Amino acid sequence: MMNFQSTRGHRGVTSQQAVLDGIAPDGGLYVPARMPVLPYGGWAQASFAQVAARILDIWLPGFDADNWMADAYAAFDTPEIAPLVSVGPRHVLELFHGPTLAFKDVALSVLPRLMKKAADELRPGQEHLVLIATSGDTGSAALHGFSGVAGIRALAFYPFQGISAVQRAQMVTMEGRNVRACGIRGDFDDAQRGVKAIFADGMPGNVRLTSANSINIGRLVPQITYYYTAYAALVWAKRIAAGDAVDFSVPTGNFGDILAGWLAKAMGLPVGKLICATNANDALHQFFETGFYNRRRPLVKTLSPSMDILVSSNLERLLWHASGGDSILVRALMTELASKGAYHIDEALRQRLSQDLVSISVDDHQALDTIRSVYKQHRYALDPHTAAAWAGAEALGQSDRPCVVLATASPFKFPQAMAMALDVPDIGDTVDAGDRLADWLGVPVPEALADLADRPERHSDVIDADFMAAYVRKAVNEPW
Ligand SMILES: *Cc1c(COP(=O)(O)O)cnc(C)c1O
Repeated sequence: MMNFQSTRGHRGVTSQQAVLDGIAPDGGLYVPARMPVLPYGGWAQASFAQVAARILDIWLPGFDADNWMADAYAAFDTPEIAPLVSVGPRHVLELFHGPTLAFKDVALSVLPRLMKKAADELRPGQEHLVLIATSGDTGSAALHGFSGVAGIRALAFYPFQGISAVQRAQMVTMEGRNVRACGIRGDFDDAQRGVKAIFADGMPGNVRLTSANSINIGRLVPQITYYYTAYAALVWAKRIAAGDAVDFSVPTGNFGDILAGWLAKAMGLPVGKLICATNANDALHQFFETGFYNRRRPLVKTLSPSMDILVSSNLERLLWHASGGDSILVRALMTELASKGAYHIDEALRQRLSQDLVSISVDDHQALDTIRSVYKQHRYALDPHTAAAWAGAEALGQSDRPCVVLATASPFKFPQAMAMALDVPDIGDTVDAGDRLADWLGVPVPEALADLADRPERHSDVIDADFMAAYVRKAVNEPW
């Protein structure tokens, strides 16, 4: 079935092709030719995997999701996968129970299976190499997801000095003969530029490059699941009646997580407002306020590094959907973004967006204050990304309907920021910082970090950013 097309116009693409290629040949992102519909059906008894399989099946038919979805989530540390917990007046949707403790595990537990199946069907015998540039969370989640998948290798480049000791240890100790991590002497932008250049040049021989970053439709769709399961949990707990609207507050970077919520609403889930919470890098917040998107500004390093981003790629999909599928408009805006670093939408379209979305910018100072006060009042530790969403719910949530706060990372992934907020003594940037934080909080450290300091380092390569292409050419010709 040719059910996908590009936001910039290219048509007639199957779900297998969309997943395998990631980006459309015209530079656009894949969107469904027709919006799938799934009204909330009161599935109190359905498991997370069952809901995930159902949604995947209507979006990306042909992957037999029912057969393997429960397996895909077997590495999560709770049977609920994404539990909804009450914290004071709010509901926190914990998306960090996967193997690398960040919400990216939810989608990256599924995407490798989709890619494997698509590769087997469309290009049997071809070798695939997934190239990743990461500032932390994506690299470990992707390597974990692809570990052990036959016929696909995954290589993550990370800034050797730009990520935390915990994040680095998660990557360099990753097991699996088909995955690798390599540090570069440079920052995340250097890593990203290097990866883009390798994609532009291609690979010689029988190796095809592909990408697992959040513009892939196969990463977006699994994220729709938890909006439905959170809604079901609220109905089940009698906090709402089926059909009542619920708001969601989402810590936002590349606009993938929150776009999944927008899609859930478009599919028929009773979503009220989606609160887009950014950190000091507030290009998105400015955009929703004024209709003007501007990436010509310095990138600020914050305590929520996964939201430190200037160009939120998935916004392109929102523009396409909200403009009624106007590929000509989207192409014009994206051309302007590429050439001038900015674009402007008209007031009618901006109004349309604001029916569903409101936004806020939460700086480090406010995030630390939020972590401190929530911990003091409720003994619940929010990580710095989730703190932005909590602050967003506080400022913009409506009193007459519940607001779900999406918790995108475990606080144990960011022990130094937690120590700053909570005045925990003696926590430095070390591999065992999570254990120290756990001791102080009086809770066990998550299983996924428990023996991190003892795991053998398997990927110790560190190279100059200029050597990335040469490194990849050599790597594909040797056994891993
Ligand atoms: C990636 C990430 C985000 C941002 O999600 P987007 O889909 O890029 O908007 C927020 N918090 C954490 C912890 C993340 O890893």
